[in-house]
Amino acid sequence: MTTITNHMPTKELQALDAAHHMHPFTEDAALAKKGARIITRGKGVFLTDSEGNEILDGMAGLWCVNLGYGRKELAEVAARQMEELCYYNTFFQTSHVPAIALAAKIAELAPGDLNHVFYAGSGSEANDTNIRLVRRYWDVKGKPEKNIIISRKNAYHGSTMGGASLGGMSGMHAQGGLPIPNIAHINQPHWYAEGGDMTPEEFGLARARELEAKIEELGADRVAAFIGEPIQGAGGVIVPPSTYWPEIQRICDKYGILLIADEVITGFGRTGNWFGSQTMGIKPHIMTIAKGLSSGYAPIGGSIICDEVYNTVAGSGDDFNHGYTYSGHPVASAVALRNLEMLEEENVLDHVRNVAHPYLMERWQGLTDHPLVGEAKLVGLMGSIALTPNKETRAKFASDAGTVGYMTRERCFANNLVMRHVGDRMIISPPLVIKPSEIDILIERATRSLDEAYAKIKAEGLLKAA
Ligand SMILES: *Cc1c(COP(=O)(O)O)cnc(C)c1O
Repeated sequence: MTTITNHMPTKELQALDAAHHMHPFTEDAALAKKGARIITRGKGVFLTDSEGNEILDGMAGLWCVNLGYGRKELAEVAARQMEELCYYNTFFQTSHVPAIALAAKIAELAPGDLNHVFYAGSGSEANDTNIRLVRRYWDVKGKPEKNIIISRKNAYHGSTMGGASLGGMSGMHAQGGLPIPNIAHINQPHWYAEGGDMTPEEFGLARARELEAKIEELGADRVAAFIGEPIQGAGGVIVPPSTYWPEIQRICDKYGILLIADEVITGFGRTGNWFGSQTMGIKPHIMTIAKGLSSGYAPIGGSIICDEVYNTVAGSGDDFNHGYTYSGHPVASAVALRNLEMLEEENVLDHVRNVAHPYLMERWQGLTDHPLVGEAKLVGLMGSIALTPNKETRAKFASDAGTVGYMTRERCFANNLVMRHVGDRMIISPPLVIKPSEIDILIERATRSLDEAYAKIKAEGLLKAA
């Protein structure tokens, strides 16, 4: 058997999966008992599984399939590039057309003097590059001790040693000896869960000023950079209060700290602009990109680097001793370039801003009428709802965090909707091309799932506040 067809019975596929395929972020023994859902096809915003169910993908895969599934144009460009030049490296004073053309396109789309691209195979790898790049930058500047990077608790920056260390996920730090040295974490701007009696604006300022306090504590001569997602994605689609990012920018400017925006989710249209930094009004020195760069059709990531950082490292008189075999892979680059062209040709950002966002916003906000839903947030097409036993106090559930969220996600799964939970927050990030009629289906399935979850939560006595 050389290829696995879609015609094998689901049970057999699940048995092979359990026997040989170890899944990311999964308790594999538990999954093996239950059997994975096998996805066989995708078209537009819908997936089909091996049992023939049509599932609305409210997450665009893992926040990446922004143009939707099954786009022939991207398949064709990949096939053509494989025939013409399947692979070549960009290490030893060589380059190739797809890597060049894509870098030029990214530089054209990126704001300000973010004019230089270093390629990686993923967002995690790109953030590993960023750690080495900002440390190298200060080294060349004669400040090798300026090497601490400040990040936030509950941030997600990937799963490599570097990426997971930058991230602030306690469950990840608990495994494998993380974080690596010289990474510091401050609190996140998560008003709904942690804002107490402060207004969102007061709380945003207070959380931003933790950066200033941390810089003062460590010494500005020790701090290389601050990294943050313009809007936290995997942490629960947490939209910071409006006061937060301007204050972070002011503090980075004041102390001469590089600002890294992790745009892996927020880049390429997700927030209605090309980059989340534009939506949040910040000017980073470096952006991390991946996911929507290729709409997930090929694995590719990278760092977009400003003139100052690039010129310093490029002009150091020495090599930057870093790179990946697949940096700027020609097939992935060709696919990504075509993806960006299609986002432009099809006016996808206009569609997000003027059609999909306003329509989904109205219907998403409507979910706050549901007895379980305390708030509904949506920027562009990334959204979240908070589940709570008490809307007035924004209370957490007495049950372990994520119990109610997981029960709700299970109902979504059963109702053929992919909507994830992060703790007791439900999150969506649908393909950017989603139509109003498909948004209606999303809301209808989400509402039914919330109703069913609510009945179950009540029946099991889980509606108690902590
Ligand atoms: C997904 C993600 C990453 C990691 O990207 P991978 O391609 O999975 O390595 C990094 N940062 C953010 C903000 C992400 O959402």
